[in-house]
Amino acid sequence: MIVDSVLTNAKAYLNKEVVDCSIAIENGRIFKIGKETQMPNADEKTNLRSMLVLPGLIDVHVHLRDEGKAYKEDFYTGTAAAAGGGFTTVLDMPNNAPVTMSKETLKNRMRIAESRVLVNVGFYSEFPNNLGDIASIVAEGAVGFKLFMAHQVGGLNIDDDDALQEAFTETGGLGVPVAVHAEDKALLMANGERLKRTNRHDTTAFLQAHSERVELKAVERLLEISAQTGVRLHFCHMTTKQGLKAVIEAKKSGRNVTCEVTPQHLLLSNADFERYGLMLTMMPPLRGESHIQALWKGIADGWVDVLGSDHAPHALSEKSAGSVWDVKVGVPGLETTLPLMLTMVRKNRMSLARVVQLLSEKPAEIFNLKDRGSLAHGRKADLTVVDFNQKFRIDASTFHSKAKYSPFDGWEVQGRPVKTFVNGLLVMDEQAIVAKGGSGIIIRGDHA
Ligand SMILES: [Zn+2]
Repeated sequence: MIVDSVLTNAKAYLNKEVVDCSIAIENGRIFKIGKETQMPNADEKTNLRSMLVLPGLIDVHVHLRDEGKAYKEDFYTGTAAAAGGGFTTVLDMPNNAPVTMSKETLKNRMRIAESRVLVNVGFYSEFPNNLGDIASIVAEGAVGFKLFMAHQVGGLNIDDDDALQEAFTETGGLGVPVAVHAEDKALLMANGERLKRTNRHDTTAFLQAHSERVELKAVERLLEISAQTGVRLHFCHMTTKQGLKAVIEAKKSGRNVTCEVTPQHLLLSNADFERYGLMLTMMPPLRGESHIQALWKGIADGWVDVLGSDHAPHALSEKSAGSVWDVKVGVPGLETTLPLMLTMVRKNRMSLARVVQLLSEKPAEIFNLKDRGSLAHGRKADLTVVDFNQKFRIDASTFHSKAKYSPFDGWEVQGRPVKTFVNGLLVMDEQAIVAKGGSGIIIRGDHA
């Protein structure tokens, strides 16, 4: 038999070990992993020159924009950024124009994306106004629901505990995860209005509005409302020791909850925000040293499940404004996450095994991405090839993303993605995009 391709001289991450091997790929899947002499004949052979091969990375927190927000990012540039950053699958958030919150908006988004994406893309939906529509959104292929608690985005009234409980019961029954942005709207608004009345428009005021209590209150409320519903809650971007502790306590008591942190909340602080200004505006905001230490401890102790980039591109002009209340929140992250985390491995802040767990294994498990998240016979041939020795300086002007800025611009890092294979196809080679839009597939939720 002649397979599609064979990759030789790989150092592949298999069963928690780095193993010298070759990998045969047939029909988009891993056909065989073994010695070079055991490989079948192939149409194409690639010598990986002892590069490290990781199971394709999965980013469960990405804003691909497009449609009415295509000036910020579109399906092609966003997934080019993913491929450049070593991600083979991304999950797209629903706060789009229009908001993804119905069977029709989801279907249309999938249709537009299909011919343009370079990596695999799954889609979240916000909750619809009519909870009876949840089942049809799931049937259309949503990988999960996103619930934004800081202000009203979807159709579900976030002030209404009974409606939230009903939505959780419905999604719990369908086995669909619900990713939550845990900041309490009422407390956030009250804080913000009080500060605006005294004419406060500075970064410190933003930090005061998005207080630690704002995160904790939302986490506690969601845990309480969801207690008897069977829903699988995934807490996005946890930032405070109190909020994380509440999630950890819930896990200890047997609750089926998971959580995420972002590289920016691990590596930057509120002092950086006050020093460098509005470009670092994000929600939840950057925090102080004791919180950052709690996040690292959560990673070391195994309580944190996922690293998400929260890739949130905006036009550069939207990242500066007269007032902190008007600036758009979030920063691009797809092209910095892996190099930053590999650098942390170099600095012994975390193990390579933990990076693979946080960026591939657990995301696949939580979002039911079958056949992804590990390297094994029969799995999809999603591969992230890394030059673990390459040192370079992050240069945002070279990003594939439309957002060519980063709080990490100029940082010296070590460890760079050099090839990205998506379903067996080479999509990124030495930072050049070498495939066409439409090479990635649309992932439809497979919930049981
Ligand atoms: Zn986000």
